[in-house]
Amino acid sequence: MPASDPLLERRRVASPPPTDPQTRAEALSVAARALRAAEHVCVFSGAGISAESGIPTFRDAQSGLWAQFTPQELATPEAFAAHPTRVWQWYAARRAMVRAAQPNPGHQALVTLASRVAHCTLVTQNVDDLHERAGSRDIIGLHGSLMRARCSAGCPGTMVPTDAMALEPPPCPACGALMRPDVVWFGESMPMPAFEAARSAAVACDVFLSIGTSNVVEPAASLPWISATHGATVIVVNPTMEGQRRGPSILPIEGPAGVMLPRLIAEAFAGRRARRHDSGGAAASRGAGAQDPTVDASVDAADESTPPAA
Ligand SMILES: [Zn+2]
Repeated sequence: MPASDPLLERRRVASPPPTDPQTRAEALSVAARALRAAEHVCVFSGAGISAESGIPTFRDAQSGLWAQFTPQELATPEAFAAHPTRVWQWYAARRAMVRAAQPNPGHQALVTLASRVAHCTLVTQNVDDLHERAGSRDIIGLHGSLMRARCSAGCPGTMVPTDAMALEPPPCPACGALMRPDVVWFGESMPMPAFEAARSAAVACDVFLSIGTSNVVEPAASLPWISATHGATVIVVNPTMEGQRRGPSILPIEGPAGVMLPRLIAEAFAGRRARRHDSGGAAASRGAGAQDPTVDASVDAADESTPPAA
């Protein structure tokens, strides 16, 4: 990248000089200064922030009737082709767990953050809707959404499944094929437009804020380090720093997101009022296109090995 790149020029102003903070308090203080000076913050969240709201991970959710299946029997295109009702009911069960959970102070702190900086991009690996329910907008979901279904035949049909649809995958409102959970399964690649948008934000931002993710599963794991390579300050908030990279522009803040994020945002923006943003709700990338087709109970009647819903 040429030295005259305006992003790099701007970073010399926005980013604090590299430091090597020895304590969490120092890291918080340096991170707060970086956030305060930033024009563009890219937030990158993972399962940890949802776990603090009581949402179990995929494997932890595999209790009771679901423990007999391998993840490949519940979350692959092949599993859905062979046993669509089983797979659909697994996702209905997980959707119910999400609906029973509430956003935590970590989610809420990110809403405050977005109102204090000129530009905030929220990228999540989570498939729950806690960021949305906390009030975040324009979320880039790398792994899709549990709260949405799409056509298994690949047509543009989408819907928001209701509790009444928990037992059988409903037919696509557009073409009649079965609807499937709009999540990225094992063996599937994440949607390229979402990943490209996330990568662009990682490259362009002044501060990259990684929350509740171990940053070890590719390709999403490379985002913080792409950002660091392009001159951003990387803040890592996680209960453990195991597996996380270290470096002069990487600030480790060890602890739960629900505690550390409110502390960080308060320190960064004490006394600063919210900016006005013109982002409309219509641009929200998730949860759109709600429809309520009736369920065709005859669909998938041949699937006999389906466990009852948890
Ligand atoms: Zn369709």
